[in-house]
Amino acid sequence: MSADTTDAASLVAHHPGSAEYDEHRAGFQLRERHRPARVVAARDADDVVAAVRHAAEAGMPIAVQAAGHGLAAPLAGEGVLVSTRRMDDIDVDPGAGTVRIGAGARWSDVIEAAARHDLAPLSGSMPGVGAVSYTLGGGIGLMARRYGFAADHVTRLELVTADGSLLTVSEHEEPDLFWALRGGGGSFGIVTALETALMPVARLIGGGLMFDLGETPEVVSTWLRWTATVPPEMTSAMTTLGVSGRHMAHVQIAYLGSAAEADELAAPLRALKPAYDGLREIPYRRSHTVFSEPDQPHAYVADNVLLPAIDEERLYDTIAASAPGRPVSSIISVRHLGGALSAPPRVPSAVSHREAKYLLCVVGVVAPTARSNAASARALQDELLAGWSGTAVGSSPNFTLGRPDRRATAELFDAERRDRLLRLAREYDPAGLLHPSFVIA
Ligand SMILES: Cc1cc2nc3c(=O)[nH]c(=O)nc-3n(C[C@H](O)[C@H](O)[C@H](O)COP(=O)(O)OP(=O)(O)OC[C@H]3O[C@@H](n4cnc5c(N)ncnc54)[C@H](O)[C@@H]3O)c2cc1C
Repeated sequence: MSADTTDAASLVAHHPGSAEYDEHRAGFQLRERHRPARVVAARDADDVVAAVRHAAEAGMPIAVQAAGHGLAAPLAGEGVLVSTRRMDDIDVDPGAGTVRIGAGARWSDVIEAAARHDLAPLSGSMPGVGAVSYTLGGGIGLMARRYGFAADHVTRLELVTADGSLLTVSEHEEPDLFWALRGGGGSFGIVTALETALMPVARLIGGGLMFDLGETPEVVSTWLRWTATVPPEMTSAMTTLGVSGRHMAHVQIAYLGSAAEADELAAPLRALKPAYDGLREIPYRRSHTVFSEPDQPHAYVADNVLLPAIDEERLYDTIAASAPGRPVSSIISVRHLGGALSAPPRVPSAVSHREAKYLLCVVGVVAPTARSNAASARALQDELLAGWSGTAVGSSPNFTLGRPDRRATAELFDAERRDRLLRLAREYDPAGLLHPSFVIA
């Protein structure tokens, strides 16, 4: 289905110097901001069509922003930024167990709307991220080992392509785009809304166990070996970080089952006597407490590798090299994958590297304005990840953040998917106007 007419005259664009311009280009990532020639705060798909047609006629680059966690290479003084923040409609169909999500809605809003019907979306560690942006990058959530990638559950998308056409994309309509958008990111147009499945989950056993690595270093090997024994209903991660000068390990757990089963499963970890034990039954609307990530905007860079297995000794070395006291503070986060993430989806998609069993991510928290600080964080990331390059099967688009130097990357997709994505990106955006957070190259 295509819509041809657009009321371009009613489109409101904001220019540098206005409060609205700054408001709509602001995002969670403080390291960089888009500096477009104009910002369009779109209210609906017609606004997006009008903005894209206007930019395309002028040959201007086009970027899109929802919650602004994933910004990599900002527009620098030119082009149009389409802010989708106002397009935050959420329409739950409890009978069908699905939700239609506007391009600017955050997971936190979807969680709230779904919880009223004892349903939950496949959201991740940080509910403040844009649900559509997250899903376009694959989406590895709190229940990922049980239900797989968020992208695998999408049934329909509405897309404005770089020539300003509004398309409906599903398994049977524009099947190439349906394949590409589920994991292939923002290289094919601006998604104005998507429809996806919700899971019959009202509660989970979730939370963190905190260990002082100085006192309990064996938590690293214990967690790693434990992951090989747990069922797909158990999704977990381990994050190491400096807290008041101490090097801590935070084991983050989300379990779909009974409290008694969770207690039994968690026993080997609890036997190490965590300094803090926050594992308990929670409603899904409290799922942000599993990772308890900071929800205030800040500046960061992140990069990752996807691994088929983890060598224990190497992991200890990586963690030691990121201990507090280095000039740049680094957080190491290892997520346990596998389970449903390794299964092929019913309808094939662009998501690659499903054989990976772990995702190892290095996050550098940097000062917002100090470029040398960001460069040091990137250098440390590269150093910490270099040791894994021989065993890595690739990397995840959603966990490569704030690294413009890594925008054009081959590791995000296997060769066959990358070739098909490249062909489709050239077909749907021949002039290369779209400016996504990761570029297929
Ligand atoms: C603290 C933190 C925790 C995270 N946890 C997880 C997690 O658990 N699992 C996971 O999978 N990911 C996770 N991520 C990654 C996150 O899902 C991605 O960075 C996501 O793209 C952020 O969405 P946003 O709306 O906040 O970002 P934005 O910066 O607004 O968007 C990011 C990019 O997405 C594309 N995009 C956005 N909207 C559209 C659209 N409507 N049409 C086409 N393209 C679009 C654009 O290329 C844009 O540059 C996390 C990130 C952070 C910072």
